[in-house]
Amino acid sequence: MSDQSMGFPPALKEKYVISKTLGTGACGEVKLAFERETCLKVAIKIINKKKCLLENDRPLNVETEVEILKKVDHPCLIKIKDFYEGEDFYIVLELMEGGELFYKVRRPAKLSEETCKLYFYQMLLAVQYLHQNGIIHRDLKLENILLSSPSEEKCLIKVSDFGQSKLLGESSLMQTLCGTPDYLAPEVLRFESGAKGGGYGRAVDAWSLGVILFICLSGYPPFSETPQKCLRDQICAGSFTFIQEIWDHVSQEALDLVRKLLEVDPIRRLTIQEALLHPWLQDEEMKRIFQELVSKAETAPNLLVKGRKRPRAEDELVGPTKARKLQQ
Ligand code: ADP
Repeated sequence: MSDQSMGFPPALKEKYVISKTLGTGACGEVKLAFERETCLKVAIKIINKKKCLLENDRPLNVETEVEILKKVDHPCLIKIKDFYEGEDFYIVLELMEGGELFYKVRRPAKLSEETCKLYFYQMLLAVQYLHQNGIIHRDLKLENILLSSPSEEKCLIKVSDFGQSKLLGESSLMQTLCGTPDYLAPEVLRFESGAKGGGYGRAVDAWSLGVILFICLSGYPPFSETPQKCLRDQICAGSFTFIQEIWDHVSQEALDLVRKLLEVDPIRRLTIQEALLHPWLQDEEMKRIFQELVSKAETAPNLLVKGRKRPRAEDELVGPTKARKLQQ
């Protein structure tokens, strides 16, 4: 385990040992780290100020991201542990050992419909919680859905990355263009094209969830650039690529939910609340599994050594201090 903490703020280095890179985001890297006192594994998201200000057209939204992370408390939303500002911004997050959902949905090894339902139910609960708390995520995509377990398919998932999120005031119309094109709702694209009455709200998250569910169930994206038709036209027309042989293996109820989420008119599109009431999700066994996973997670913290007890206050020598002593 090498300490890769060059340039990190002293207070952060005092508390954490930095290790390998877990992922790369738009504004920097996400590193694995260990809390010295408890041996707990965490993820540290580094937001490179220079890179973000100079090279990125995404507005630097760190304050909002941290504000939202501090505010939210839901088993399907990533939690913040610490925040540091130095040369860069450093957000310490709970670690999701299973990585991105993105890597689990590629064909031919695609997810079973049962697993898709368990994951999608959790995404809906997370986004319902956000909407109830006046937060629109605006950048829901497979890369921002993280899995708790690298080996167990039936596991908790968490929605992450609030870098594009918006805290709603009284008026819920938003007019900033953001989000990844593949998952962008038609009303967002229409606003960009200069249509009158621009602005969009919570319904954009329902659209992106529709795109995610489509990919999870089929293993391919609903909209993708072709020589015949550009991505924007396909999205605005709501005409997704439908491959009969693949969808023949998916239930009619699941397909019905996809269609109702990929509804071009945001007024007619299902809300998150309505999606949760859809027949496909009325599955008591799936909900029981979810509740069991939540209970398990509450009693099993993310420890470095499985089965190791949390250090007690009177345990003076823990982690690296102890290691140093032993080497002397
Ligand atoms: P950005 O906002 O810059 O796009 P993200 O927050 O999406 O950055 O993080 C980039 C990648 O880092 C993610 O797609 C994922 O692979 C990894 N990652 C982020 N947060 C965690 C976490 N809490 N646990 C494990 N991996 C993470």
